[in-house]
Amino acid sequence: MSLHGPKIVFVCSSLVLLCTNSSLAQNTSVNVPPVIDVHVHAMDESFPGLGPMCPNESKFLASDPKTKETTFGWSQEECTPKLYPSAKGAYLKDVVAEMERLNVTAVVFGDPKSVQKWREAAPGRVIPGTSFNEGMTPGKRVALEELRKDFTSDGFKVMGEIGLQYEGLSPSDPSVDQYFALAEELDIPVAIHMGTGGSGRANIAMPKFRGSMGNPLLLEELLARHPKLRVQVMHAGYPMIDNMLTLLQANSHVYVDVAGLIWSYPLKEVNRYIQRLVEAGFEDRVMFGTDQLEWPKLMAYSISVIQNADYLSPEEKRDILYNNAARFLRLDNPPAK
Ligand SMILES: [Zn+2]
Repeated sequence: MSLHGPKIVFVCSSLVLLCTNSSLAQNTSVNVPPVIDVHVHAMDESFPGLGPMCPNESKFLASDPKTKETTFGWSQEECTPKLYPSAKGAYLKDVVAEMERLNVTAVVFGDPKSVQKWREAAPGRVIPGTSFNEGMTPGKRVALEELRKDFTSDGFKVMGEIGLQYEGLSPSDPSVDQYFALAEELDIPVAIHMGTGGSGRANIAMPKFRGSMGNPLLLEELLARHPKLRVQVMHAGYPMIDNMLTLLQANSHVYVDVAGLIWSYPLKEVNRYIQRLVEAGFEDRVMFGTDQLEWPKLMAYSISVIQNADYLSPEEKRDILYNNAARFLRLDNPPAK
């Protein structure tokens, strides 16, 4: 999740694993079907403190309050594959090369200046997104009229990532309702962090974070107030599957993305979660995403999780990797100017 200030980013749902050894297999093709990644962060440099990462190898280790923890307490075991950050200054170039190789169009979230760099680096492949957090100070907001201008004059298409959970706030909190009213008025979809938070998020790194504020059913009041609002529940409300299904059942304008969770948690658990969403009848509302932060090969890896899912039909894989997001974002029917 990124905030509005330059180069200030909260790491959402990232399980930071320090690993050694191995590399990710390439996945090249000259004729690659299109993919939409609905959840990318507008980084232009390696995130300080994040090293190589082992996808789907997380372990939720205990920590001792007597010990001063500097990480979230993840495993430091060896792993395959291991994803590496780019060399200094090379990240944006590397990730754009991956987007081209994999035929990915991405919704890229961040402050307008950071997102602009991506728009220039990957013309035609970036759907710009920005939100109302200003800097890292909880509760510091972008002025409503400034945000309106981002969407009406500066080409931004999605309001996100909205990270109220990190502030211990419900998405239905009245203090932010004016921003959702703006999104509804302008017919801009909103993307809200719900659920994932990593190990020890509240008691090690972010004292205001509340797991309970990621409950998907907290969106109900917001949706009742704004019946035309299109909502992307980021991270699919993981791990609150029953509440997620309840919300999807009651609100047909709600979609989910599988970003973050797709590589952060054990693969068996990830597949179980996605399978449950699909088999409950919501296959046309599950969207692919990475929560891309600093590992260029994460896109290829995350796409492979969907491609290798034996419980999905070829049609369902294409829906998750492209069609559902194209419909949610109205790419096929862009609003008239
Ligand atoms: Zn997030």
